[in-house]
Amino acid sequence: MPRDPRHDILFEPVRIGPKTLKNRFYQVPQCTGAGALKPGANAAHRAVKAEGGWAALCTESCSIHPEINQSMSICTTLWDEGDVIAHRHMTDECHKWGALAGVELGAGGVKDNLQSRYVAAAFDRFPSGGIPKVYTYAAREEDIRRVMQMYADAARRAIDAGFDILYIHGAAGVFPAHALSRHFNRRKDGYGGSFENRARFWIEAIETIREVADGQCAIATRIAIDDLSGPWGMEMHDEGLRFVELVTKQGLLDLWDVIIGGSGEDKWGEDSGPSRFYKSNHQAPWNSEVKRIANVPVVGVGRFTDPDEMVRVIKSGQIDLIGAARPSIADPFLPRKIDEGRTEDICECIGCNICISRFNLGSTIVCTQNPTVMEEYRRGWHPERFDKPERSEAALVVGAGPSGLECARVLGMRGYRVSLVEAETTLGGHLRDVIRLPGLAEWGRVITYREGQLARMANVEILRGAGMVTAADVLDFGAARIVLATGARWVGDGLGAMGPDPVPGAAAEHAYCVTPEQFFAGKPIGQRVVILDSDGYFMASSIAERLADQGKQVTIVTQLEKVAPMTDLTLEGFNMKRMMREKGIHERIGHWVELLRPAGNQVEVVAYDLHRDGSLRTTQPTTGVYPRRLGNAVEILECDTVVLCTARESRTELYDALYERRAEWGEKGIEAIVRAGDCLAPRYLADAIFDGHRIAREFESADPERPKAVIRERQVWGQEVYPKLGDPVL
Ligand code: SF4
Repeated sequence: MPRDPRHDILFEPVRIGPKTLKNRFYQVPQCTGAGALKPGANAAHRAVKAEGGWAALCTESCSIHPEINQSMSICTTLWDEGDVIAHRHMTDECHKWGALAGVELGAGGVKDNLQSRYVAAAFDRFPSGGIPKVYTYAAREEDIRRVMQMYADAARRAIDAGFDILYIHGAAGVFPAHALSRHFNRRKDGYGGSFENRARFWIEAIETIREVADGQCAIATRIAIDDLSGPWGMEMHDEGLRFVELVTKQGLLDLWDVIIGGSGEDKWGEDSGPSRFYKSNHQAPWNSEVKRIANVPVVGVGRFTDPDEMVRVIKSGQIDLIGAARPSIADPFLPRKIDEGRTEDICECIGCNICISRFNLGSTIVCTQNPTVMEEYRRGWHPERFDKPERSEAALVVGAGPSGLECARVLGMRGYRVSLVEAETTLGGHLRDVIRLPGLAEWGRVITYREGQLARMANVEILRGAGMVTAADVLDFGAARIVLATGARWVGDGLGAMGPDPVPGAAAEHAYCVTPEQFFAGKPIGQRVVILDSDGYFMASSIAERLADQGKQVTIVTQLEKVAPMTDLTLEGFNMKRMMREKGIHERIGHWVELLRPAGNQVEVVAYDLHRDGSLRTTQPTTGVYPRRLGNAVEILECDTVVLCTARESRTELYDALYERRAEWGEKGIEAIVRAGDCLAPRYLADAIFDGHRIAREFESADPERPKAVIRERQVWGQEVYPKLGDPVL
């Protein structure tokens, strides 16, 4: 299909210094969690996006020297010749598709350096606020000169590696930003004091790499124009815009990359805003201020997935380039689909930030919407290409929740004749309920994208409202390979916090107990509510928010040390806690429940502090108990209703019945019956969708329930290494 002419502006080339972007789609620096140790994964990830039409692909923060490493965040490096070779795979792939490759040269900040064991110089002497506690030393002028040399050396290596855009990483938390901040920079020398002095380090860093590039590369900087810390931080209408003015006046840059917030999950979540709290383009007020001053192109992010919105922000003069990290992860082919007039095929980011949570956990990123992300190299998966089976056989998928929908979609793309059977009249499984929770409507894109794709496949039939499928139905269906994606349900007995034990007195049958499914189904809930949360993600706090909005008194009890710690990893946690304070939702952290006890018209939650045991040793240690005084203090929480968000269990009834009759599988022509997603074990949405996808990709294997082997990237003994032992320190 031809491109919609209204979107033509998105495909105009844009000049940045000596280089030209072929269109306005720009993948800003984005972490993958692959870092320097998995260059194949990084290269293949960016390569797929280059093929998908992005005009520029940038690395994540790239450490310029081992002294400035950050071991707990897995980032990439440009320390030596080995890194040059590794990065060249990425840049070659970008160039093959006419895209530019950018590198974000990162230096400084309060780094833990747990791996390299260097003590980092920082712009001033100050410790980290978090754990591990890290102290830096204040850089002397000669240390600053050494850092400039590191920038120069890294820039030289970047050019050798084939990069087209060299960044000075200046977002909050790194050397340049600390230098500019009057809060972090209290130096008295030529790098401290006046605004001009504080700007000097950043300016010199830009000048340094500009000189090295010598017209071969575009020079960019990423600036957190406002770190949202008020007067003690960097404010847009103070240092932020003054710095933009100063650099603009000196003509030092070819591109501004603008973000807000800073390092740390609290500020990062204000930029990579989760959809629960932020709609797309919430950064507009900041981006447009930079654009007003800058005389070179400005790139800004905004979780843009709608081409009409992209056109609006370009035409309004807010930004010049559509910056994206998450939308490019969710759909690496987003630009090409717009270009080809296939906007209905765009797989839109849902703003769940599971990608970021995995990075925060030290793993490679995953994506709820795009199961192929970071599987491009190790599994050889391509988001838009699928192997065809030798014969177009029948396949049966039972259950049209997220995993079943994805499995059916991929089987359909592969050419199978797919029957997707769903008990309910609507598709989406438990996600249908989840998207009714406050702020989670965008997650519905998981369903609408797959429903739309399936509707266009002539080889997929969807049998809605089929009721409960029986073992006999499956055995007689006539498919050789069958996927059961029957999902999971919340337990009704309080199990989940303390191993395999339920909570005495908890039962979904009781009028005073409500599971999440019963909540969605409308089971009556009293005025005073205690929510037992051992799940640690969004369900308990979301139900609490809904109930608080209805005027109910809500307390969350959790055995965890904070409410919903998973939401900290997805950058939702800080605003979620603010919401809880604002709406008067109480919490008992580090507590669990001995018993639920009906008492007249109410119920008593008998709660205890997990650390109630005394600290004194008993005189004689005995086996089977802690050698401490045992405490027995409890707290009685009186309420009308207890909501049980403790754990989920797989719906295995159908699989169990089929397994009982496995002797009949062969005579019925059945080769395999496999469980996908939550049906095998409850898991995060992204992992359930991944499982459905993987099973469909590996459908012909002897046991599709077991993943095939993947390519591992690791040092192999006896091969060339960089640097070699004894090489000079860089
Ligand atoms: Fe978007 Fe969620 Fe995918 Fe991240 S994991 S790219 S937020 S859909």
